[in-house]
Amino acid sequence: MFGALSRWWHGRRDAAALHRRAIPDDLWKRTLIRYPFLRTTADPQGTALRRMTSLFLDRKEFSAVAPLRLTNDVVVAVAAQACLPVLQLGLSHYDGFVGIVLQPDQVIAHRHRLDEDGVLHEYDEVLSGEAVQGGPVMLSWRDVRGSGRSAAEGYNVVIHEFAHVLDMEDGAADGVPVLPPEIARADWQRTLSAEYEAFVRRVEAGEDTALDPYGAQAPEEFFAVASEALFVAPDGLRAEHPSLYRMLVRFYRLDIAA
Ligand SMILES: [Zn+2]
Repeated sequence: MFGALSRWWHGRRDAAALHRRAIPDDLWKRTLIRYPFLRTTADPQGTALRRMTSLFLDRKEFSAVAPLRLTNDVVVAVAAQACLPVLQLGLSHYDGFVGIVLQPDQVIAHRHRLDEDGVLHEYDEVLSGEAVQGGPVMLSWRDVRGSGRSAAEGYNVVIHEFAHVLDMEDGAADGVPVLPPEIARADWQRTLSAEYEAFVRRVEAGEDTALDPYGAQAPEEFFAVASEALFVAPDGLRAEHPSLYRMLVRFYRLDIAA
């Protein structure tokens, strides 16, 4: 009884949100042309993605740092790319945060870090995006806007940051998201660390890699970088990391390269 009632209520709530946040045909067509990777074999016209994008727009709060202005094209570009990783998993995986802050361009963050010997290190970091526990998610609009072109290199800042959101759903940024029952945590960790360690060795040796060398920073960055590649340029990931590729396909339930 409760299940049926809850489904009915959610159905009504979603129907109202889909009506409020309906994406016009011409805007959706433009979005698919600018970001061709949004069309997938499971959802060739982007119909399911368009629906989820409306729900995302209804549940999340966007803000922009001047001179960037929040137009429909801007928010739909971000929301559609953010929904792509959870298209088969469900939007509830993003319930842990509400805010999305769009910067016009990359930002420089001044960092302080104490090392094991108690020595304070200060350095500047250039950020094209950042996801922190509980939000908000920060993104550089210049990087989001260019993601149609940068897809060939496997680069996508939105998918990268939302992979971090999935990773942090269980409270820990460690490259292990909340796994479905059919994927054992020990298997995930074994595959991720073996692939990560091999990747670090290749990056340190100066080899060309299909994945962004930034993934060698930490296992959680490796997971985020591999997730980007899976959705926008899967062939290189599949060729160089077949077991990681298979594991991510199972996790996201989406075989893009099929
Ligand atoms: Zn990252």
